[in-house]
Amino acid sequence: MSGNLYSLLARGFPADPTRHAFRPPGSSAVSYGELEILTARAAAGLRARGVAPGDRVALQVEKSVDAVVIYLAALKVGAVFLPLNAAYTEGEVDYFLKDAEPAIFIQDAQAFMHAAQDLPPDPQVEPRAASDLAAIIYTSGTTGRSKGAMLTHGALAANALALHEAWGFSPDDVLLHALPIFHVHGLFVALHCAFLSGCPMVWLNRFDEAAVLERLADATVMMGVPTFYTRLLAHPGLTREVTAHMRLFISGSAPLLESAFEAFEARTGHRILERYGMSEAVIITTNPLDGERKPGSVGFPLPGVDLRIGGGQETGVIEIRGPSVFSGYWRMPEKTAEDFTPDGYFITGDVGRLDADGRLWISGRAKDLIISGGYNVYPKEVELLLDEQPGVRESAVIGVPHPDFGEGVVAVVEGRGDEAALIAALRSRLAGYKTPKRVVFVDALPRNAMGKIQKALLRQTYADLFR
Ligand code: AMP
Repeated sequence: MSGNLYSLLARGFPADPTRHAFRPPGSSAVSYGELEILTARAAAGLRARGVAPGDRVALQVEKSVDAVVIYLAALKVGAVFLPLNAAYTEGEVDYFLKDAEPAIFIQDAQAFMHAAQDLPPDPQVEPRAASDLAAIIYTSGTTGRSKGAMLTHGALAANALALHEAWGFSPDDVLLHALPIFHVHGLFVALHCAFLSGCPMVWLNRFDEAAVLERLADATVMMGVPTFYTRLLAHPGLTREVTAHMRLFISGSAPLLESAFEAFEARTGHRILERYGMSEAVIITTNPLDGERKPGSVGFPLPGVDLRIGGGQETGVIEIRGPSVFSGYWRMPEKTAEDFTPDGYFITGDVGRLDADGRLWISGRAKDLIISGGYNVYPKEVELLLDEQPGVRESAVIGVPHPDFGEGVVAVVEGRGDEAALIAALRSRLAGYKTPKRVVFVDALPRNAMGKIQKALLRQTYADLFR
C-alpha cells in the first residue's frame, strides 16, 4: 500500500459522498464527494503544469477551501507542499522562493482552480514512501534566516493518527476551524483530525469572536490559539448555554494563561485541553481527553514520543525523538546537525521540566533565558507572579543590555498600573536579581498570527532602556 498521506486521509472520508466537508458561512457547503473531485482536478492542473513528484508547490493565498484543495492535490501528485503566510511581503517571499525553488508558485487559488475546472479529474495517487517529503514549513523565526522544516508523509500520518485517537474524533464530530492554514496548527492538526474522521468543519476564514459564538451551536470541537480563548472570554456572549453541547476545546501554539483556563471553566464548565507542538514535530504532548487536564501543564508525550530534559538539571531544554519529528532543515545540513543530539533527539529550544507523573511544564524558550549579574532568570517564573497582580492582563519578561548586570530584567505589561508598586509587590516574593528593574505598560503586547508574543521585537524596542 502507498505511504502517500492523501490515501490515508481519503480512507477517512465518509462512505456517503454528500456529507459535508466544509460549511463556510454565507456560501454553500462543499461535500466530501465534491472535495475529491476538486482535488482530482487540481491534481490534473498541477500535472498539466509539469509538477513532478518531489517538486515544491508554493502557495501564498488567503484562507479558502480552494487552498485546502491545492494542498491535497499537491500530496496526491507526490509534490512537496509549501504554504506561505499571506501577510509576508514580497521581499520575504523572494527569500522562500529562492531557497525552496518551487516548480509552481500559486498566488491566486481561485484562478488556479478555474483553469483546472475543465480538466478530466485525475484519480491517480502517486505512490510515496513514508520517508518522502510531503511539506516544508518555514519556521516563523524572528531573528536570522527562516528555516524550512521538512516533514515526510510518514511523520504527518503518524501524528494525524495519534491525535485522532488521543482526542477521540468520530464521524459525529463537527470541527470549528477558524485557524490560519499556512501553519501546522490549522493545516495539519485541525484538517487531518477532521479528514480522518470524515466529519464536517464549520469553516471560518478568520477568527472573529461574534462569528465563532454564532457558529458554536453547530460544532462539537474547537481548536484555537490562546488569544481565541482570551477574546472569547472578553465577549459577553460566551456562556454555559452556547457551549453546552461542545465536546472539546483545544488550545496550543503558545502558552495558555492559567487565569484564562480558570475563567473559561468558570464561565462555560469546560476545561480547555492544552497541547504542545511545533513546526518541527507537529504535536508532541497533550493533556488527556479522559483524565485530569492541569492548567499550566502541556500534558504527556504522545504515544511513541521519547521526551527528555537535556543538561542534567531538573529544568532544561526539552529534547524529543519520535515518529513525527521532522527530517531536517531544507538545504541546511549544518544547522540540522547542530539541532540533533548524537543519539538522535531533536533539541527543541524550549525549556521545561517533567513532574513525577510525567507531565511536561514549559517555562519558555531557551533563547529567552535572561542572565542578569551572572544569575539565570527564567522569564516564566516572573511572568506567573506578575499575571496575578491587579491590573495586569498578561506580561512578557525580557532581558535587555544593562551596564552593570549584562542584562537587566524588564517587564512589559499589558494593562494599567503603577510601576513602583508593582516592583515592590514582586520584590517581596522574588530574589532581587529576578525582580524587574523596570516595568513598562502597554495597551497590547505584540503578537504574531498564531498569538505568540514577539519577545525579540520587545528586546529591540526596549534595547536602550538602561543605556
Ligand atoms: P511554531 O513552530 O511556529 O509552531 O512554534 C512552536 C513553538 O510554540 C514551540 O517551540 C513553543 O515554544 C511554542 N508553543 C507551542 N505550543 C505551546 C504551548 N502549549 N505552551 C507553550 N508554548 C507553546
